[in-house]
Amino acid sequence: MPPLPYAAGAYPVKLVYRVTPRQRLIVVEHALKQMQAFAQHRWSSSEAGGVLLGRHLLDSRDVVVDEVSTPQSSDRRSRFSFFRSSKHEQVARQRWLQENSTSAYLGLWHTHPERDPTPSGVDRRDWQQAVAGDKYEGDRLFFPIVGTDVIRIWTLSRRGTFRELSLEKKYGDKQDRGAD
Ligand SMILES: [Zn+2]
Repeated sequence: MPPLPYAAGAYPVKLVYRVTPRQRLIVVEHALKQMQAFAQHRWSSSEAGGVLLGRHLLDSRDVVVDEVSTPQSSDRRSRFSFFRSSKHEQVARQRWLQENSTSAYLGLWHTHPERDPTPSGVDRRDWQQAVAGDKYEGDRLFFPIVGTDVIRIWTLSRRGTFRELSLEKKYGDKQDRGAD
């Protein structure tokens, strides 16, 4: 099944993506809203980005993105590029300390000035560097790109497996709210 794009206009409570047959990635509403706030709807909007922070669930292999870091004044931003400063690592470190060492670094997000985003060569190299050089739990990192209409999420494993995640479930209906 091809990945279903997620329309950025309506805010669901959370998005659930299939990573492997035994693993899911869950992005909660707060993190979605944080990223969508920087979607490049105007010609004057610059790219934005940061790190994904969340948890590896203990009773499953599922991973939850609880929040993201947002652009820092030390980042270099233009309409078609985003250079993340080391301030994001400090933010991640701070959250880790505040959350009693339970806040995990899960990947990197950024925006694109296009409706339906595709990763650039620079993105791919940036992600490879992160997977090879950053410290993280588990065997992969996650890389959302926020377009003006659609968010897509790619994953790259330590072994070099690269692919887009498919959206499994969209929790946005009233009956889903507060279900878990
Ligand atoms: Zn990009």
